[in-house]
Amino acid sequence: MANGDKRDYYDVLGVHKNASDIEIKKAYRKLAIQYHPDKNPGDKESEEKFKELTEAYEVLSDSQKRAQYDQFGHAGLGGGGFSSGGFGFGGGTPFGDIFGDIFGDIFGGPRERSRGKRGDDLLYNLEISFEQAAFGAEKQIEVPYAKRCDSCKGSGAKAGTEPKVCPTCRGAGQVRFQQGFFSISRPCSHCNGEGRVIESPCPSCRGTGSVKDRKSLSVKVPPGVETGTRLKLSGEGGQGIKGGANGDLYIAISVREHPVFARDGYDVICEIPISFVQAALGCEIEVPTLDGKVSLKLPEGTQSGKVFRMKGKGIAVLQGYGRGDQLTVIKVETPSNLGKRQRELLEEFAKISGEEVHPMKRNFFEKVMDILS
Ligand SMILES: [Zn+2]
Ligand SMILES: [Zn+2]
Repeated sequence: MANGDKRDYYDVLGVHKNASDIEIKKAYRKLAIQYHPDKNPGDKESEEKFKELTEAYEVLSDSQKRAQYDQFGHAGLGGGGFSSGGFGFGGGTPFGDIFGDIFGDIFGGPRERSRGKRGDDLLYNLEISFEQAAFGAEKQIEVPYAKRCDSCKGSGAKAGTEPKVCPTCRGAGQVRFQQGFFSISRPCSHCNGEGRVIESPCPSCRGTGSVKDRKSLSVKVPPGVETGTRLKLSGEGGQGIKGGANGDLYIAISVREHPVFARDGYDVICEIPISFVQAALGCEIEVPTLDGKVSLKLPEGTQSGKVFRMKGKGIAVLQGYGRGDQLTVIKVETPSNLGKRQRELLEEFAKISGEEVHPMKRNFFEKVMDILS
């Protein structure tokens, strides 16, 4: 589905933009029960509706994704076509997690307890130079993350002991009761839905199954990225616990400003100052480009603000072919602090050109006369 076709997630759930997490969860539960495929077997429309609801909930129930969505809409969550070499923009929604979360307890369906806990998604801010954004780069980064505890292999139980089957739910992770139409299950409060309890917690991780660590990663930044580009490294986030999948690592790119280059899409803009004599007589100047200095011939009578397009000297197109151009903008500088001789020569120049010595003044009076006449 293209982003443009998507409905607003708040509309999908029928909640206000400032709805609380609880309101969102409530709205989702209510609608999900109504449209759940088990209740509407073979009904395509319900199924689509159900998927839409679930997607909306997946975003709005995650504070980070919700903030992105509020700021950028569907585009902020990515889902664009960009993915290569393990990268991709954000998006990609594992329905499984929500099913475990919500459907486990609404429908009491067969809950796969072996799924474990998915690792955290991480966000890393990576600053790169203008040139690295233009041509791509390989960057070494150090990322703090939650690593599976080695001492207990992520079980959380002290070495030599094992988690015990929860006596309250007998390992099911849920307690079930009948309420009208539905058989309702809730996560077991004794074991927090784990089905197992740890009697002697692992001292290394205090029973959590994971410890803080840092890992070194090499990130391939593709050419053409800009500030705000996000790269996704699947599975490089926090380690899953008890068989859960790893989280993903998102790299948020920010590009440092360059002393002489600015950027407009894939074009590079470079402003070059020249003297008014150079502008009047024409000259050859050296222009810095991303590929080094290039000489540029300016014809006589070059005006300030004139733009020279240098083909293919711009930034590589992200996930595409070719490069943008460099737009070299000429800025004619007016001389100031003239010496006596310089002033004499310029006055002489003005006289020969038939100008009065104070052209500004004359122009001003002419304009006034124009208005009055
Ligand atoms: Zn441990
Ligand atoms: Zn239990």
